[in-house]
This record gives sequence, C-alpha cells and structure tokens, in this order.
Amino acid sequence: MNFALPDELQSLQESVRRLAQEKIKPRAREIDLSGEYPEDIFQEFRRADLLGLCIPEEYGGSGAGILGLTIAIEEVTKYSNVLGLMLLLTRLPTGPVMIAGTEAQKLEYLPGIADGTSRAAFCLSEPGAGSDVAGMSTHVVPDPEVPGGYLLTGTKCWISGGMQADWFVVFAKSGDPKARHHNDIGGYLVRADAPGLTRPRVDRKMGVKGIDTAEIVFDAVKIAPGDVIGGGFGLAMQSLNAMRPIVAARGIGLAEGALMYATEYVKNRPAFGKTIAEFQGIQWEIAKCATEIEAARLLTYRAAWLADQGRFTKEYVPQLSMCKYYASEVAVKASGLAVQLLGAAGYMEDHPTEQYYRDARQLTIVEGTSQVQLGLIGRGVLGHDLWWD
Ligand SMILES: Cc1cc2nc3c(=O)[nH]c(=O)nc-3n(C[C@H](O)[C@H](O)[C@H](O)COP(=O)(O)OP(=O)(O)OC[C@H]3O[C@@H](n4cnc5c(N)ncnc54)[C@H](O)[C@@H]3O)c2cc1C
Repeated sequence: MNFALPDELQSLQESVRRLAQEKIKPRAREIDLSGEYPEDIFQEFRRADLLGLCIPEEYGGSGAGILGLTIAIEEVTKYSNVLGLMLLLTRLPTGPVMIAGTEAQKLEYLPGIADGTSRAAFCLSEPGAGSDVAGMSTHVVPDPEVPGGYLLTGTKCWISGGMQADWFVVFAKSGDPKARHHNDIGGYLVRADAPGLTRPRVDRKMGVKGIDTAEIVFDAVKIAPGDVIGGGFGLAMQSLNAMRPIVAARGIGLAEGALMYATEYVKNRPAFGKTIAEFQGIQWEIAKCATEIEAARLLTYRAAWLADQGRFTKEYVPQLSMCKYYASEVAVKASGLAVQLLGAAGYMEDHPTEQYYRDARQLTIVEGTSQVQLGLIGRGVLGHDLWWD
C-alpha cells in the first residue's frame, strides 16, 4: 500500500495550490458579494489546463482522472467553494457521456469542455422530484418527423451553471411519466440554443454565489437520434456515484481552508494574558477537527482511486457515499468551528468565516443529501457490501 501521490499528481497539487493562493484567495470575497460569474477565473483555469483534468487524452483532456480533479478541487476550495464547483462542472455533465456515450458523442461533446470553448450542466432535479429521482416527470415522446428522434418536455430546477451552459445532459422518461420504471429513464444531450428550451429563472441563494442555479424548461425540444445516451436509471446513479469524491473534495478543501484561517487567527488573538490558541479547550477543538478532516481526506482519495478504476457500480456505493457524506458534514462542522473561534469577528463579513459557513451548507444537499447517502450506506451494510466475513 502506498499513500504517497504519484509525482505528476504532486506537481498538479503544488501548481493548483499556488494558483489558488495567488488568483483565487484575493477574488473569493468579491465573487461572493457581486454574485457575478467569474469569467476571469474560468480563463485562469483554461490557461492552466485544469478544465480537462478528468477527460481522457484522446478527447482533448489531460487524463488526470477523478483523483486529479479531486486534488485540484481540494486546493481551489480552500479559498472558494464556488470555484471548486466551476471545476466540478467539467465532470458532472460529461460523466454520462464518458460512461455510456457513443464515440461520436464523446468526440462532439468532450473536447470543448477540455479546451474551455464550451460549458455544460447536468439536469436531473425537478420541482417535484429531488432525492426521489424516479419521481421525475420530464419525458420524451417519439418525434413523428424524425425516426429515432424524440421530443423532450419538462422542467428541471436548481441547475448549477444552467445560465452559462452551452449544452445539457437531461434525464427524462420515455414511458409513462407517472410510472416508476427504471428502464424508462435515460440521458439526452440538448444544445442550449435548441428551439423550445428556455431559462426563465435564476435562484437567489444563501451561498456558493457566482455560478447561477437556474430553472431550465423544455417544451417539445427536438432530440436528434445521435443525441440519445439512454442508459436507464442506472446511468444516472453511476454518474452520481463516480462524482462522490469530487463533491467530497469541495468538503475537505472548504474544511481545510476554514480551519487554517481560524487557527492563524487564534494564534494572534490575545485574551486573559495569553493567546486564544494557548487554551487547551481550543487546542482540543482544533485537534478534533483536523483529525476529522484527515479521515475525510482518506475516504475521499480512496473513493477517487476506486472511481478511476471504473469501480462506481452498485457494490462500491458504500465507500463512495461515505466520502461524500462525511466530507460534507465535516465541512459544515469545521466552518461552524471557525466562526466560533473568531467570536464576533467570525460572524462579520470582514473575515471569510461566515462565507465558509454559508457555502458549506450547500454540500450536504447537492448530489444526494446526507440522508440519502446514509440510506445508500445503510443498504450496502445490510447487503454485506463492506467488510463482512
Ligand atoms: C446550490 C444547489 C445546486 C444544485 N445543482 C444541481 C444541478 O446542477 N443539477 C441537478 O440536477 N440538481 C441540482 N441541485 C439539486 C439537488 O441535487 C437536490 O436539492 C437534492 O437532490 C435534494 O433534493 P430536494 O432539494 O428536492 O430535497 P428533497 O428530496 O425534497 O428532500 C428534503 C429533505 O428530506 C430528506 N429526504 C428525502 N428523501 C429521504 C429519504 N428517503 N430518507 C430520509 N430523508 C430523506 C432530504 O435529505 C432532505 O433533508 C442543486 C441544489 C442546490 C441547493
């Protein structure tokens, strides 16, 4: 067993760490306050070749895999959760294409993400169906004018990057929208300029500001035969399973950033004739938090390693879900501790702690809530998918 990162991933970690310190740290608060899409940082990522980390070399990426992307996102999210999300969006919508797309779909949709000439979003959630994916009502019917083509109708909501996306992967049912047949669910590729597609609403949200979440409405949007991925409910689930370490990376990065900031503060804050850091009660809180972050990192790196070997099918669900569950809960806890360690200062916008706290809350909800992850882990334990003799 080797816990050291290979040389190329160590270099990636060091270079992204530098970029995060120099370019992201100074911009993080401005992006939060303005809520405007940080195009300048997208271009930084593009210049640094970070947009194609998870895309294989034959489709224009650098082939650093899910572990490479995980490591980059961890560094970026030490200073900005929304910029971690920007990198995450290079994998979330491309995942279904990489897992189940045709060669033609891979050649058409992946290189643009890798070179930054296009952006994409992942449309699964609906106003009436979030955790309950099979409850979706978005559906397709055969296009009477195009054999093998479809017409897509429905509403997707809370879609990250929905306003910036040039294309979408959309999950819909091909049978009765009220039925819960898993085989009826499939993925469809849709261009943002397709007639019948509108983006009527951008959400006002608590944190992770700078990349919109939007409502996307499809009104009999034409799907060409070549834009059908299909894949069933299993494709939606496998796509999300492979994403668990990438979301978890935002959790560990945010927790690390919050704890680093608060630790430096208490080393300099005087009280009762010493510094706050000298109190044992404070040291123990810092120690407990650091231990939990390290545990979350180990779970996350192992999950990324599994996912890179294609081990994101049902039997690996407990290990994958554990990292997402634990890292996002640790992020909430660490950012809460950071606010507390700074006292009143931690509650004010003069320090990034209140932003870490708001931003962390998103992580226990997106891509499967903590409760949904616990359900998945629980089913795996009951099914003996872990270390049972
Ligand atoms: C900022 C943001 C960005 C997002 N980006 C995207 C995106 O890009 N694409 C996309 O498709 N979606 C996106 N989402 C939606 C997200 O995936 C859903 O919010 C999430 O799946 C939960 O669905 P829901 O909000 O409808 O909650 P619900 O499913 O209504 O759940 C409400 C509560 O009930 C609990 N609950 C539900 N079912 C169970 C159960 N079986 N057992 C125990 N508890 C349960 C949940 O854990 C939660 O606490 C985004 C959400 C946010 C907040």
